[in-house]
Amino acid sequence: MNATWAAAGVLLGVLLAPVLRGLVIRHAVPSGEPLRDTCPGCQQRLPRWRGFRWLSTRCPSCRASLTTPLLLELATAVVLALVLGRFAGQWDAAAFAFLSVLGVALAAIDARVQRLPDRLTLPSYPAAIALFTVAAVANADMAALGRALLGGLALAASFYLLACLRPGELGLGDVKLAGLLGMAFGWLGWPVLALGTAAGFVLFGLTSIGLLITRRVTLSSQLAFGPFLLVGALLSVVAL
Ligand SMILES: [Zn+2]
Repeated sequence: MNATWAAAGVLLGVLLAPVLRGLVIRHAVPSGEPLRDTCPGCQQRLPRWRGFRWLSTRCPSCRASLTTPLLLELATAVVLALVLGRFAGQWDAAAFAFLSVLGVALAAIDARVQRLPDRLTLPSYPAAIALFTVAAVANADMAALGRALLGGLALAASFYLLACLRPGELGLGDVKLAGLLGMAFGWLGWPVLALGTAAGFVLFGLTSIGLLITRRVTLSSQLAFGPFLLVGALLSVVAL
């Protein structure tokens, strides 16, 4: 872990958090509904900066709370500090930083409305492939790029199979997220692919058991899987 790069990650996270807040508020809508541009409390149009950024966590008209203050700042700063500290100026740092920031936004949206919007996951495929390609060319390591593409394909296919076998537990949003994470895992190697995926399921299982024991949920409750997959991925990528 490189302390200078980790500190840069904290700074970048704090700067990016307001952008992410706009993204989360805008995309945290039920499936099929248009992106949110009005306050859910008073229906007033929310102020924008370049179409996607809100600086405030409250509606300027009615003061209704739009997001939890400081939560996104904290999450983005911690995640970027870990990832930039881990990849410390290597060529692949850009791809992992991009996926981390996307992951924070997706986890926040999934926790709110239990979906991972295609509008965010699908355009991230060409972006991630481009960033990994640049890193592969710069490192003269095309094998890593091949592994990343195969890893993405393998994990998306496995999740698709699981979603077909257990509909209602895994959604197609999870399948599309799995493809992106599979690329990141594959880039780092097959052991990371196996452990990173397993970590998500273990975290989800332990949390579900904990919530059942403490009667915070029932057997029929739906718990968003995306945040667990993302936290498992983060821990594996940083630790391995
Ligand atoms: Zn309002």
